[in-house]
Amino acid sequence: MLISQGYDAALAGILGLLIGSFLNVVIYRLPKMLERQWAAECGAVQAASDGIEPEKDTEAFNLMVPRSRCPSCGHEIRWFENIPVVSYLALRGKCASCRAPISPRYPMVELATGLLFAWCVWQMPGQLSGLAWCGFAAALLTLALIDWDTTLLPDDITLPLLWAGLLAATVGLTSVSLQSAVLGAVAGYLSLWSIYWLFKLTTGKEGMGYGDFKLFAAFGAWFGWPALVPIILMASVIGVVVGLALKLTSGLREGGYVPFGPFLAAAGFTAMIFGPQAILGVIGL
Ligand SMILES: [Zn+2]
Repeated sequence: MLISQGYDAALAGILGLLIGSFLNVVIYRLPKMLERQWAAECGAVQAASDGIEPEKDTEAFNLMVPRSRCPSCGHEIRWFENIPVVSYLALRGKCASCRAPISPRYPMVELATGLLFAWCVWQMPGQLSGLAWCGFAAALLTLALIDWDTTLLPDDITLPLLWAGLLAATVGLTSVSLQSAVLGAVAGYLSLWSIYWLFKLTTGKEGMGYGDFKLFAAFGAWFGWPALVPIILMASVIGVVVGLALKLTSGLREGGYVPFGPFLAAAGFTAMIFGPQAILGVIGL
């Protein structure tokens, strides 16, 4: 039993490394794809109001095309330079062609995905629920990093994550009832939506984005409604600590805006690994 459990977890870890490599592409390209799409739509509206033919962007840009290139010299990454973690170590973190440094974040995302996948399958050996939580973890890691980089939480990930949580509850892949999952999704969305409007009407500022509501709704679907309070408390505590640390080290970006998604994600991972109720113990309640 233990041997096959270890074998499954190791296989899941290798799968995680490969998926992590793909997540790096999604994290880098999805926001750019969305920007191009918005620019094209704006261009089409502008062209229509000017009564001219809109310019067509002919160059394909998606998750598959074009092939990955070194951002400094344009060297096309060959398959053996793209083996998760191994290639980074073999190349000592530098481009094979121009020796420009490669961000250590790429192997770290691969390693994190590998460890998360191995952990999920180890905890739920031989069960589909292990794979369901692998999917949850991959989506959450991607969202956290996209939000950190661009302050966006794309609907293309938050909404499928929400639907998947409801579906997982329906077929018994998570330990929450469908009733708790649906209530969690609704309460998750409405609670942050209410706080957003309360904050906006009283201070005139926007403290969060709509993506945060959708991500929190997804947590409600995956963990059930009772998990929402511990998760939001933990996310807020981490947010305040990191926000203060950035302020003290002058690490704040222009406008002083800190995205909330990464802190929600950190709380979501804690809930996944230790259980939502354990969070209350961690933050001393
Ligand atoms: Zn290069």
